[in-house]
Amino acid sequence: MSQSIAVLGAGLSGLRCAALLHEEGFDVQVYEKADRIGGRMMTDKVDGFLLDHGFHVMQSAYPTSKRAFDFEKLEAQAFEPGAVVVQHKKGKAKFWRLADPFRRPVQGLAGGLNGFASPFDLLRVARLREFVRRGKTEQVFSGDDKETSIMLRKRGFSQSMIDRFFHPLFSGIFLENDLRTNERMFRFVFRMMSEGDMVLPKDGIAAAPRFLADVLGDERIHLNTDAEVLDEQTLRIAGQDKTFDAIVHAYNPRRTESKRHVWTLHFGASKSPFSSNHIMLNGDVKTQNQLIAHIAVPSDVQPSYAPNGRSLVTVTIVGETAEALGLTSAEEVLDVATKELRSWFGSDVDGWKNLAIQHIEHALPEVGAGTALSGLPSTTEKSFECGDHTVHGSVEGALLSAEKTSQRIIEAFASN
Ligand SMILES: Cc1cc2nc3c(=O)[nH]c(=O)nc-3n(C[C@H](O)[C@H](O)[C@H](O)COP(=O)(O)OP(=O)(O)OC[C@H]3O[C@@H](n4cnc5c(N)ncnc54)[C@H](O)[C@@H]3O)c2cc1C
Repeated sequence: MSQSIAVLGAGLSGLRCAALLHEEGFDVQVYEKADRIGGRMMTDKVDGFLLDHGFHVMQSAYPTSKRAFDFEKLEAQAFEPGAVVVQHKKGKAKFWRLADPFRRPVQGLAGGLNGFASPFDLLRVARLREFVRRGKTEQVFSGDDKETSIMLRKRGFSQSMIDRFFHPLFSGIFLENDLRTNERMFRFVFRMMSEGDMVLPKDGIAAAPRFLADVLGDERIHLNTDAEVLDEQTLRIAGQDKTFDAIVHAYNPRRTESKRHVWTLHFGASKSPFSSNHIMLNGDVKTQNQLIAHIAVPSDVQPSYAPNGRSLVTVTIVGETAEALGLTSAEEVLDVATKELRSWFGSDVDGWKNLAIQHIEHALPEVGAGTALSGLPSTTEKSFECGDHTVHGSVEGALLSAEKTSQRIIEAFASN
């Protein structure tokens, strides 16, 4: 008879771990306390728009994503590499298009030369790119492990380049306001951006966990189930005690300790404010104490995100930035963000319909300087833990933890 495994949590890590064990012939049951799968990767349908919970992309170069997903089946579409940086100069909004700083650093950043980047910055990006791409991917998780801001200064980037390019981009990825995230994480993300694309699935980001659930089969996933853990092998579910050969805890038991939070505003517009499929970085967010980190128009890349003839504009605001400006309510955040949007896109913004204001708390685990970012929590023989918090806060971290945990279980039972 096959061994029985209970997985608590139907986020990405729980589903991937369960799917891998199921494929190996284990009898797997997943118990999720929420009313739907996906954890932090969810999508709502509002007025025909697909609203992801927070601006969320998949990276086609993530090694584990390549193994776990079929991007063709997900009908994924890519943003253009690079970004547009907006900056106010003499009271007017200037837009600098950076073609592809991750793959063609010199040509890719040339668009910023008259704005915020110096010729030295271009060369330093080229050197940084070469540095992060050296050796195997895992190697980025060894070596120095200081804060990202310290690493950028040490590599000689101008303050303008840090404030106007790296800050809005990476504060919006790390969801913190000081670039205090471990430089290993920066190196990893930079490397992935230089090797692949930021993509969106046709059915929204929730299509990623859905893909894994389909491998597993819905009959093995039990929603709205708050299982009480009695011991390493026993759960009490709806008043009944059930014993398993092992239990996997696929969630972060200390998630509420994370201070990283994000506000995401979604707007329906009659036309896209952009002329290219880039994301737009707010080059003034740091220097002018502004609010918005970046903006994307998912429907430009993936038309399924908006009904015919409409565009979806998604605005990302790092929670700590809002805090620093003393903004705590949704109304205050919307008010200040709308003023910034108007300063770039003029009165068109008055015609945009606010579809949702999401405030996502405890969004990512804290990964500061000196964190290993490649470990596994201590587990006992029958009780295992996985989730992005055990590696690093990303789709890659969640999937890698799942792969490592499932492998441990397979090995543990093979030797029994
Ligand atoms: C706004 C935002 C944007 C992001 N953008 C990106 C991005 O662009 N690229 C990227 O790579 N990563 C991104 N991430 C990170 C990525 O979403 C996460 O790393 C990943 O989804 C984590 O998956 P997980 O399974 O580890 O945890 P979770 O998604 O948190 O899943 C845990 C699940 O366990 C359930 N659960 C908790 N306790 C119990 C219990 N006792 N019993 C049963 N179930 C339980 C929860 O309800 C949840 O469903 C983003 C995250 C956020 C919040």
